[in-house]
Amino acid sequence: IRRKKDTMLSAHDFAAKLYHHLLRNTDHGENARNYLLNRQIQLATIEEFALGYSPDSWNTLLYQLEKREYPLPLMEEAGLLSRSENGERLFDKFRGRVMFPIHDSQGQVVAFGARALGDAQPKYLNSPETPLFNKSQLLFNLHRARTSIRKQQEAVLFEGYVDVISAWQAGIQNGVASLGTSLTEQQARIIRRNSEHVTICYDSDQAGTLAAFKAADLLEKAGCFVKVAQMPGGMDPDDYIRKYGGERFRNDILLHASSVMAFRLQVIRSRYALSDETERMQYIHEALTEISHLPSAVERDHYMRQLAEEFHLSLDALKLEQKKVFKTQK
Ligand code: ATP
Ligand code: MN
Ligand code: MN
Ligand code: MN
Repeated sequence: IRRKKDTMLSAHDFAAKLYHHLLRNTDHGENARNYLLNRQIQLATIEEFALGYSPDSWNTLLYQLEKREYPLPLMEEAGLLSRSENGERLFDKFRGRVMFPIHDSQGQVVAFGARALGDAQPKYLNSPETPLFNKSQLLFNLHRARTSIRKQQEAVLFEGYVDVISAWQAGIQNGVASLGTSLTEQQARIIRRNSEHVTICYDSDQAGTLAAFKAADLLEKAGCFVKVAQMPGGMDPDDYIRKYGGERFRNDILLHASSVMAFRLQVIRSRYALSDETERMQYIHEALTEISHLPSAVERDHYMRQLAEEFHLSLDALKLEQKKVFKTQK
């Protein structure tokens, strides 16, 4: 088994170098180079993240693996090759895509994320689960970000590869991403082992907001102090950095991250039409229920005061109401 894994690792290392070479130095890579430069990903960043390109061909990698006598069925198991439906032929799994090598915590390439250059579906194609690659236990970029995370005692959790890379390019080097799937318990524990403080910075669309909700919960359960940073109007961190620059991203977004409770209340609030009296009362009730979950009396008091102020209510009335909420919960 050891031998098998070593061979898979060696093949991934080889494939990453091949894809990188094809992106950097060949005519095949020209469209992908332009694609990345258009997205304002600079050469130094392409080097740092060893980004690559898999040509639109059935056998570029296959041919090179064969030449180096890698056992091809093992390469299929490693997720580098795919098999035709009738089972007869093997071919390159990744074709015509920008390649993002995914490293384990020791910095070895164990998988790839692969993005289509245009609107081809799926937008991202990722390596399958393999003996090397357990998605739920790996964070993209952790091996690079770890030093910075430990030094700053703070990690930033993003959704996508490009968000991490964009942020890195803008000098924010403590970013990791949860590899597309929603954050898992194991990933939350890994983050906690490296830092007590986390800022979640997911896309500010509906999917991202919902995922941030869940991630915040898991991270708090893992013992982290969590904040949630939000971009305006459906942007993701990469969009924001490209439009406004890293300086503003750091100052206006990351440093303005809200507490998890403030974020929760804001999301709940957005579901109600507050100009309608009935809905306003419903919101206040739901907010009170949320607030009453807080273990700290000081924090409960803080958010109750905010709520009272926002809706011009007396704190006493809110506290009375909250007692009712408490009772029905018990
Ligand atoms: P881009 O900026 O390149 O369009 P993104 O990172 O903003 O990409 P999102 O749609 O926000 O893309 O997705 C976030 C992350 O989710 C991606 O980086 C990728 O890891 C994962 N992902 C997205 N689409 C897919 C898919 N179809 N299959 C698997 N993973 C995906
Ligand atoms: Mn998204
Ligand atoms: Mn996105
Ligand atoms: Mn994006």
